[in-house]
Parts: sequence; C-alpha cells; structure tokens
Amino acid sequence: MSLNHIRPWRNIYRRESRKIHVGNVPVGGDAPISVQTMTNTLTSDVKATVEQVQRAAEAGADIVRVSVPDEASSKALKEIVRESPVPIVADIHFHYKRGIESAEAGAACLRINPGNIGDEKRVKEVINAARDHNCSIRIGVNAGSLEKHLLEKYGEPCPDAMVESGLDHIRILQDHDFHEFKISVKASDVFMAAAAYQQLADQTDAPIHLGITEAGGLMSGTIKSAIGLGNLLWMGIGDTIRVSLSADPVEEVKVGYEILKTLGLRHRGVNIISCPSCARQGFDVIKTVEALEKRLEHIKTPMSLSIIGCVVNGPGEALMTDVGFTGGGAGSGMVYLAGKASHKMSNDKMIDHIVEEVEKRAEVIEADQSQDAAE
Ligand code: SF4
Repeated sequence: MSLNHIRPWRNIYRRESRKIHVGNVPVGGDAPISVQTMTNTLTSDVKATVEQVQRAAEAGADIVRVSVPDEASSKALKEIVRESPVPIVADIHFHYKRGIESAEAGAACLRINPGNIGDEKRVKEVINAARDHNCSIRIGVNAGSLEKHLLEKYGEPCPDAMVESGLDHIRILQDHDFHEFKISVKASDVFMAAAAYQQLADQTDAPIHLGITEAGGLMSGTIKSAIGLGNLLWMGIGDTIRVSLSADPVEEVKVGYEILKTLGLRHRGVNIISCPSCARQGFDVIKTVEALEKRLEHIKTPMSLSIIGCVVNGPGEALMTDVGFTGGGAGSGMVYLAGKASHKMSNDKMIDHIVEEVEKRAEVIEADQSQDAAE
C-alpha cells in the first residue's frame, strides 16, 4: 500500500497525457511507465535477436525495439514478432519502405526519425501502413540528425529546433487523422535533452518516450541517464523510458528499473538497501550484497531488503524493510522480518538463509495481493 499520503515529499504528479498502445502495452495516461530497450544483434539473425529479446523481457523489458536497416531485417521481423513475448518496435531511418514492410511484418510500433524519413508524401505512406496494421508510431527526434532546414534556421542543434521538428511531425500525423503516436526528443547532452523535453511536454498531450541518447558505457551512461531521466520523471514528465548504454540490453533494462524504483514510480524485484561498510562491519557487506544481487535476480515481487554492517544504522533501516540483516555479535547477526527483530543467524549461513527468507516473504506478499484482488 502506498503511504504517500503521509509522506508528501515523495509525491510525483505525472503530466496528463493521452493513452496509446504499443501492442498490448498501454503508454501514457495512467499506464505504468514502461521500460524499453533495443537489441544490438543483426536483425536478420533471427535466432540471436529473439534470444536477446527474450533475455531483455525476462529482465523486465515491457517493449523491445529492433533496428530495421535493410530488407533482410524487415523480412526477419515477422518471425521475431511471432517469437517475442513483448511488443516489438521497428526502428526506421532513411528508408520509409522499411517502415511499411515492418508494419506488414507485425511490428507493434514504428519509430520514425523526422530528420531522415523524407518528405510528407513518404510519411503519409508510413502512416497508412501503420493504420492498416494496427501499429502505433513514435516520432523519434534526435539532436544528432535534425532536418537541414532547422539546422540552418537555428545554426546548431538546440531544444527549440528539436521541439519544432517534433511538432511539425505531430502536425503531419494529425493532418492524416493518425493519433496513436508518442514522441521523443533525445540528445546526448542532458541539459539539451531536459530543456527539449520540458518544452515539448507543455506543447502536446502525446505520450512522451524519454531517453538520453548515446549516453555512454555502463557506468557513465547510467549516471547520465539517472540525472537526465531522473529529473524529468521527478517533474512528472515521461510515459515510457529507454536507457541507452554501450552495454548489454539487459543492463539497460536493469538501470531503467532502478531509476523508476528510486523515484517510487514502478517497483519490481528486491530493492536492496545496504551500507558502504567500514571497520565496524560485523560481516563482509560488499561481498554479501554482490552475492545476494545475483541470488535474488529471480524475485519479481516488489520488496525491500536491508543488509547493514552493524547496529549503527542496521535496526533503523530494518524497521522499514521486508527483510533485514544487521551485523553485530561475534560471527553472527540479527535477522529482521517485516521490520521486527526475529532471530540470530551465523554469518557463514546468512546468504542461503536470507535468500530463503526473501523467497518466503515474496510468497506472502503475492498471496496477500491475490487476496486483495479477489475481495
Ligand atoms: S552501518 Fe555500520 S558498518 Fe555500515 S558503514 Fe555504517 S558504521 Fe560502518
């Protein structure tokens, strides 16, 4: 149960947007903020792509995007869509025909880039294909590939140019009576992306797809995305997110969830609260947390676990978590369940024991939720 009514400093008021659908996933309105990623395999290699889509979906991706650079890729898309457990978005650049082929192949959404899709006549053909095949569209503006006339007008990529590009394409879609679209205005510079998204949010009620593009490697890209997307989400802007990392797509999904979990916007799996450790620690906190992160990957139930090295902060943190362990006594620590001190456990058995306690607690939470839903 959310306790935000007594913790108002945690409230985030989401911008009101229209709801559209990407396959069976609602985006916008009151829908949960969805997490996306993108494959980096050759799309024409169906086996490798499907395998990556499945791993991303297992990690929690709600939607997966696949690049469609050539005809071999749009041909492969049909089988990828059939095998995928989540809706597939086809990423289209330059060749509007790939967009038409992707809609025919069953893509749930087409991402088109206003900077390179071509003139209105071509966009219209893509719109018709999307309409005929029950496909939504993402207008994906990118600071690195703006239309020539906008670069000439503004001199360089900037928020105004990005928003103008996006609004121009919104008008084209609306003029053709097409409303199942969302929009993104991505830049690798967090200031530019944040300014563009804020301007855009004031000028359309379309659902917004958030992303900091080309954010970098796992570490630097995570920080950039957490700052850029985190700020926008905190302001209530954003209906679906993609973290772009030069890393495994599964990492993008994990980072996306961590950002949403931190802001209390979405919950999945075990949220581990752990101390940095110091000379006072009663057990090896760092190794324990590393081991638990791996051992608890299979838990999807939203819950919290505190792993704290000593009694300085351990009991206080454990008060607010579902399961807790605090180091202390010689070779053993205290296990907390639902905020209360429960029993002692020796350090050498604690990892297996905590995994068991978390699994038991997850079952209880799931059972409570099914009962609530049935009442
Ligand atoms: S909780 Fe204890 S062990 Fe952990 S960092 Fe603080 S003082 Fe050190």
